[in-house]
Amino acid sequence: MEVLYPALGIEVIPPPPITKKTIEIGVKLAPQNACFPMKVTLGNFIEGIERGADTIFMAGGVGPCRFGYYGQIQRIIIEDLGYDVNFVLIDSPRYGWKNFFSSLKTMIGGKWSVSRLHHAVRLAWNVLRYVEDLEKTSRQVRWKLKNPSQLDILIEKSLKEVKKIKSIAQLEEIRRNTLQEISQLSTVGRKEPIKVGIVGEVYIAQEFRVNFNIEKLLGNMGIFVDNSVSTAEYILNFFPFTRSREKEEAWKLAKPYLKRFVGGEGIDTVGSTIRYAKQGFDGVIHLYPFTCMPEAVAKSVVAGVGREYHIPILHLAIDEHAGEAGMITRVEAFVDVLEMRHQQDVREASRF
Ligand code: SF4
Repeated sequence: MEVLYPALGIEVIPPPPITKKTIEIGVKLAPQNACFPMKVTLGNFIEGIERGADTIFMAGGVGPCRFGYYGQIQRIIIEDLGYDVNFVLIDSPRYGWKNFFSSLKTMIGGKWSVSRLHHAVRLAWNVLRYVEDLEKTSRQVRWKLKNPSQLDILIEKSLKEVKKIKSIAQLEEIRRNTLQEISQLSTVGRKEPIKVGIVGEVYIAQEFRVNFNIEKLLGNMGIFVDNSVSTAEYILNFFPFTRSREKEEAWKLAKPYLKRFVGGEGIDTVGSTIRYAKQGFDGVIHLYPFTCMPEAVAKSVVAGVGREYHIPILHLAIDEHAGEAGMITRVEAFVDVLEMRHQQDVREASRF
């Protein structure tokens, strides 16, 4: 959004980064049993409005989980608080192109032409892809770096530069320079790393400010991390006919274990766990909001998958009561188990 709107000539007011205060606002205003992502995004909206935002966009959805209600509830809460904002809910075109186009029209306002819209969408999409590529590269190299904080500095610099770009050529230049700088960081001579895959609900698995930056935590511990969840894929899946190859594969793998759509990322969680097991990963971390129905279903299936494929799985439910210290302790204990298994495998392999 920070690239899309300026490219359309529309001012964007990003909410401040998620903090304890954001979560407290959302928890105070939302129904107690609402899902954690709904509470955090509500906190984001309020902070954005207090900074001057007058229009809010929220993705809509349908069952079987509660996602479909959340935009409506957030709208009612914001109206009851007396804020005068335009709350736009965007439903997937799967449920009607007419509604989708009407929300899209409100979303982009009056100041656009087809060519400008095409340029803005293309630019924003490429930026999203670049940010995800950068995150992926960071996961692939962090485990072997002598000084991982240098990687953080490079990423921060790159993301700051990306916010100012006006063309894809500029983005590609930033990509080239950043990847080159990353490839020059000094590494330690470690052998095969322990490999951990992350699966789970999209918001918790992607938003590092609510998952206590688990990817970075693991990477700094010398673990190779892969995250099966991607915002770009989530957007692709929002549209008919554009499901990604990874998603198709995950759904195919999950089918013998989970035949019905259970909402959210439930099926992806199961399929991606199987994929990691087949790819020889040492363990899987399952991240999800406490009380998330699709992930509760997936959790019980994934536990069976773990036993069948002999792959350890750590289930981490996150909500407003989760604490960083407790999470770090659980992750460290899990990594200890993976290390013991890894060393045992190496010993057994060396006997032959
Ligand atoms: S996927 Fe889970 S967390 Fe997200 S809205 Fe549905 S039930 Fe809530």
